[in-house]
Amino acid sequence: MEKEKILVTAALPYANGAIHLGHLSGAYLPADIYVRYKRLKGSDILFICGSDEHGVPITISADKEGVNPKVIIDRFHQTNKEIFEKFGMNFDIYSRTSLSIHHETAKEFFLEFYNRGILKEKKSEQFYDEKVKMFLPDRYVEGTCPNCGFEEARSDECENCGTLYEPNELKNPKSKISGETPVLKETSHWYFPLGDYQSRLENYIDTMNKAYNWKDNVLNYCRGWFKEGLKDRAVTRDLDWGVKVPVEEAEGKVIYVWFEAVLGYISATKELSKRLKNENLWKDYWQGKSTKYIAFIGKDNIVFHALFFPAMLMAWNDGDKAKYILPQNIPANEFLNFEGKKFSKSRNWGIDGKEFLDLFPADPLRYTLAANLPEARDTDFYWKEFQARNNNELADILGNFINRTFTFVHKNFDGKVPKRGNINNLDSGILNSLKEYPEKISKLFENYKIKEGVLEIMNLARSGNKYFNDSEPWKTLKSDKETCSTTINICLNIIYTLAELFYPVIPFTSEKIFKMLDADRTLWDHCGDENLPSGHKLSKPEILFSKIEDDLIEQQMQKLGKPSEQDQKPKEELISIDDFMKVHLKTATVLSAEKVEKSDKLLKLVVSLGNDEERQIIAGISKSYKPEDILNKKVVVVANLKPAKLMGLESQGMLLAVENEKGKLEILNVDDSVKNGTRVR
Ligand SMILES: [Zn+2]
Repeated sequence: MEKEKILVTAALPYANGAIHLGHLSGAYLPADIYVRYKRLKGSDILFICGSDEHGVPITISADKEGVNPKVIIDRFHQTNKEIFEKFGMNFDIYSRTSLSIHHETAKEFFLEFYNRGILKEKKSEQFYDEKVKMFLPDRYVEGTCPNCGFEEARSDECENCGTLYEPNELKNPKSKISGETPVLKETSHWYFPLGDYQSRLENYIDTMNKAYNWKDNVLNYCRGWFKEGLKDRAVTRDLDWGVKVPVEEAEGKVIYVWFEAVLGYISATKELSKRLKNENLWKDYWQGKSTKYIAFIGKDNIVFHALFFPAMLMAWNDGDKAKYILPQNIPANEFLNFEGKKFSKSRNWGIDGKEFLDLFPADPLRYTLAANLPEARDTDFYWKEFQARNNNELADILGNFINRTFTFVHKNFDGKVPKRGNINNLDSGILNSLKEYPEKISKLFENYKIKEGVLEIMNLARSGNKYFNDSEPWKTLKSDKETCSTTINICLNIIYTLAELFYPVIPFTSEKIFKMLDADRTLWDHCGDENLPSGHKLSKPEILFSKIEDDLIEQQMQKLGKPSEQDQKPKEELISIDDFMKVHLKTATVLSAEKVEKSDKLLKLVVSLGNDEERQIIAGISKSYKPEDILNKKVVVVANLKPAKLMGLESQGMLLAVENEKGKLEILNVDDSVKNGTRVR
């Protein structure tokens, strides 16, 4: 039988910040569990992800730091890549949309639609900042949502209520660059006629849902959009960071991120083909008729993956080029909140993946998140729950069962799997459920009920402990050695099954257990069989989970909601007395003062530094001082400043002055008793 070919993508994280636990539980962990499970089922699977590196938030961050956007994306691509590795993500590739292979792919789609006349060119009114002379992309404008009154709404979309509107409907718009009220100015853009695809999209989702049972949250979301009616969407914008629009008349425009980011899955797969020197690999998956494509995302991405991307692929497929497959399922999760509130970096609420994985190993986090996935509704991460899942479930149930069995077998059976003898009722009960478990978990995972599946696997560990207790091997060891060895043989085989069933969820631990068993994984469907024959030599046990103490959890709770160290004002840099003494501050008397022609700011002064030394100083104080007000004043000047030219006049020093609250300059005065040229220190 040919292997089932599956393409799995996980939403491309935005390279503008470190991913946090909410992201991990939204798209990545469920995708990883699914992929690892499917690999054990023997499927031929590709798992694709990468950084989304275009768009306005990145340019805003870059502006804030005064760096090129490339600095931002390089930083966060690396950060997120490392988080994913530590977290155990099993991607075949973690690519980036800034690669030229992606730009080419995005341009190819744009041109295909452009050349076939699918895109409509439309003039529209966009916010324009007259002060900085540029069109403002949506996120550069903030105002009040016309629907819900949210005051931090973007120019065409409200993050609070999810409403989309026209820029002219936004109330009290402000430019985020200059703070000014922007004007609406005409610009020209290309639009994708999404509305033309509505009935086909409805049909597609209906068909897929009937065959593959889509999640209610996804269906309801799409139906909401259908009810509103799909409208044309701009595929270009006025911005210089992104994929350049590949037509001449589109100077200064890039392809809108919504259009090109989803194509990042395709370009990442192309990149993988290139790396593996297997040119056709990406086509085998993306254009293979029998490939099943599953897109894992969080709910904020539903519209892009269930509506926009399929419509783009439909439009492509209407042409005469090789056709793409459409997602078979889009198991979007709801959100994970943190201790009852939304994650917020600015309020220091939550923890990012890097920080977390520096403190704790990945598996307890994976297990805690998996046991509480926001599959049907929003859920919360609680530090106390994390501690309890680790201590009471991973350590006390799974770890304990494995540990007591290993201790027993090394003490009483020379570290070898003892013989399985006659089977009593207790034995056959657990052996039956061992056979049933892989099938039972499989059904749940196939239907994206990952959370339920994970909790079921822990139930098997519970049954293992109960079986050990009920069989009382410590008693039968003396009274009935054959029964005792049967019990331990079965316990070891339960451990084998647990190691395999838990492999998708806690892969690092699973690998340790297989090492302890000195055994390899088998196919999922066989993991409930007798995989460890009698006489098989086991390795030494190791500690699988350490308990997390209260004070460690308490420390983390304490950090919440307080400004993080990075956010606190940097301390003023200290200088040494030597540094200070490099500046020669000297007293001087103003001998003459006159206005500099054609300047309303500058006064030309001549000052005496004593010993017949005179200096010309051009000072920007004309708005605060008339020449006659400053004449004969004893002032402080920087005497060893490099000369500079101002309005063509050389300035051989600088006058010390301070500005008062009203903006008026006050010159630092010194008592007349001090001789000119005296060092100030
Ligand atoms: Zn709103």
